Amino acid sequence: MILSILSSRHAKFLIVAAVLVLAAVFFVFWRPGKSADALPFGFDIADVHSGPVIRVLLFDKLNKCMFRVESDFELLDDNDVMLCRFSRTRGDVYAVCDANGWQIGTESYRPGNISIMPSDGIFTLNGQRFRGRLKLIADVNSGTFQAINYLPIEQYLAGVIGAEMPDYWEFDALQAQAVAARSYAMHITRRFGVSRNYDLSRTQANQVYAGIAAESTRTILAIKKTLGTVLTYRDGKEQRQILPAYYASVCGGHTEDAAMVFGEQAGVVPGVRCRFCRYVAQKEFYKWPPVEYDINDISRRIIARYSSLKKLGDIKQILIKRASDYGRFQRITMVRLTGSDGVSDALLRGEDFRLAVDPTGNKIRSAAFDIKIENGKALFYKGRGFGHGVGLCQCGAQRMAAKGADYRKILRHYYPAAKLEKIY
Ligand SMILES: [Zn+2]
Repeated sequence: MILSILSSRHAKFLIVAAVLVLAAVFFVFWRPGKSADALPFGFDIADVHSGPVIRVLLFDKLNKCMFRVESDFELLDDNDVMLCRFSRTRGDVYAVCDANGWQIGTESYRPGNISIMPSDGIFTLNGQRFRGRLKLIADVNSGTFQAINYLPIEQYLAGVIGAEMPDYWEFDALQAQAVAARSYAMHITRRFGVSRNYDLSRTQANQVYAGIAAESTRTILAIKKTLGTVLTYRDGKEQRQILPAYYASVCGGHTEDAAMVFGEQAGVVPGVRCRFCRYVAQKEFYKWPPVEYDINDISRRIIARYSSLKKLGDIKQILIKRASDYGRFQRITMVRLTGSDGVSDALLRGEDFRLAVDPTGNKIRSAAFDIKIENGKALFYKGRGFGHGVGLCQCGAQRMAAKGADYRKILRHYYPAAKLEKIY
């Protein structure tokens, strides 16, 4: 319209001028964008060696394993003396151990522990890729061996965060998870590492570690942004200690004091109200459906896990000995099992009891339930949450982050007695 009342020469001039003005505005205000999720150029988690080296049990009681290394690597003895240097393996190589020593590919080596040290810091064991080095620890009595992964803690965390939390979740939830996982790993290492060949297992018994397959840009960035940051508390002797920063999937509305589930010092990881996970967790995990077991089946499962409880004979009664009452629900922290004679009995922690009955945790999803025994059947009902419910509630953390809380605030909520400290 406007153009039609101007001469065509004027119109051309105006269009060219407008384009030039827009281009000028674009160049003045546009800056090459840096996504919030982008790692700095050249950053590689493989170069991060700060913090302690962690020993993770990858496999136990092996008779043989299959490994592959895509770079030059060294084979070391138990004193880290080099036995042999190899160029990359051609495909998978079998390692077999017996009383006479090791058979690795076509070569034989004398008995003892051995390590495989890849020059690029990556190896594949039984089809899964890991960072760091692989140590094989032989047990002469059983003729089996353990496969243990040695690697810097931050590289270890890169294989944990994405295995424990979806990597597309809120960035502050991922950072809170990184700090909790780092603290937990260091606590378990200091507490149990001295008395065994490894610091942590790679299952839910500790925290899930899936190696390189679990890594992603966002989880590595969450690790980088919280590098060396842990939760600490003061112990009875006023010494600063790394917090046993337990965490679980869905608390169901209230977390549990670590003293009630793991026997930690009371109040170090206290129970707190959580109004958040209900908005993130699937309904059947926030409140799980009733599940019924034959009481004989329960007896069998408990004895399979705790052979010392054979003395009870068939379990006749299961009573709640101790539970935390959170108003709308309870979490059972101790049960009393009564045997076939009606007199002999045993106490079992609520978490141990539910995992003995349902080791998968798929049906009895937490120890937050009520139990009713009738006609030889035990009914687990009023179930709430998924996991042990101690410490950070992962679904709760996601909701808090989505509502604007940063990772420090999330950690302060779930670990109110702890302090955040950057220790390296
Ligand atoms: Zn929760």
